[in-house]
Amino acid sequence: MDTKFNADQKEDSGRLEGTDRPLQLTPDLAAELQEANEQLELASAEQIISWAVERFFPRLTMATAFGPEGCVILSMLATIQPRTPIFNLDTGYQFQETLELRDRIAEKYGIEVELKKPEMTVEQYEQLHGGPLHQTNPDQCCLDRKIRVLQKAVVGMHAWMSGIRRDQSPDRAQAAIVGWDKRFNLVKISPLANMTKSEIWKRILREEIPYNPLHDKGYPSIGCLPCTRQVAVGEDERSGRWSGTGKIECGLHSIEFEQGGGI
Ligand code: SF4
Repeated sequence: MDTKFNADQKEDSGRLEGTDRPLQLTPDLAAELQEANEQLELASAEQIISWAVERFFPRLTMATAFGPEGCVILSMLATIQPRTPIFNLDTGYQFQETLELRDRIAEKYGIEVELKKPEMTVEQYEQLHGGPLHQTNPDQCCLDRKIRVLQKAVVGMHAWMSGIRRDQSPDRAQAAIVGWDKRFNLVKISPLANMTKSEIWKRILREEIPYNPLHDKGYPSIGCLPCTRQVAVGEDERSGRWSGTGKIECGLHSIEFEQGGGI
């Protein structure tokens, strides 16, 4: 894979000491990302992750909720670059099965996913708001317990990977392989964008990649416990998230903040 880029940029991306200034989307970087996006459109997930590691490690990261896609990326990182800093947004509302999966991943791959927590515990937060905010204002709850935590977690980072697939939703169908995330000022890489749900699961079963046992109990997409329900056969795979509220994303991967192929 041709990984043409500016050598000074690479050296800058390879230093964690010194300034934590965010990456700027200069015209040169935009052109580089656009070229990479085109070149990697037909690449395998491993090739895309290898490019991301070569270009951005150790300023490359990923937030994972340990969904099937995140677990597949973690399994690939185990051989490509297991020291890639990966974190989980530990809202305090996660399923116990999700937290246990973190330990199973660490045991199998030696990758310790860091739990990043909001400043307030669930108890403090609910006391402040007179009850569980996820029932009355889930957008604010996601903002406080996910987005703001993520904003802190990515300080010093230049790129992040996501496990989104284009076949997950009409919004996600527009995801670029390599793009610019203007919400977080990060290069955004989606190595699984072209994989299907079936391909992900075939890989998980073939390679015995640890996965969340809730998937076998009717939860195709798992977030926080109070905002996730089981779905019936034939329902959309993300319909169990914030069901009945009209909310479809926590805001981490909103397509409105992405600049893709035409950066
Ligand atoms: Fe709060 Fe629900 Fe968002 Fe979790 S998914 S942060 S509980 S609103």
